[in-house]
Amino acid sequence: MDDPTPQDPVEADVDLAVAAQQRLGETLLARSDEPTRRCGLCRHYLNPGHDLALCWHPDQRCLVDADWVCRAFEGESEG
Ligand code: SF4
Repeated sequence: MDDPTPQDPVEADVDLAVAAQQRLGETLLARSDEPTRRCGLCRHYLNPGHDLALCWHPDQRCLVDADWVCRAFEGESEG
């Protein structure tokens, strides 16, 4: 059986957290205030219609919320 889940974050978790914060700052990923400019309407959002989905844009490649947006937003008609 696998090792039990650690009780505290390990060094790899801290490294991932630092990288995630850096990516947020670089890509300006945040909750959107504009109903027509959000991840759920972006061509990089892999599963339209779902509240959470993978963004395949090379700057992200992570799960995002349909109501977030980043500076790489491209509406379907813009691609
Ligand atoms: S590129 Fe940006 S706006 Fe588009 S789905 Fe990914 S995180 Fe959201």
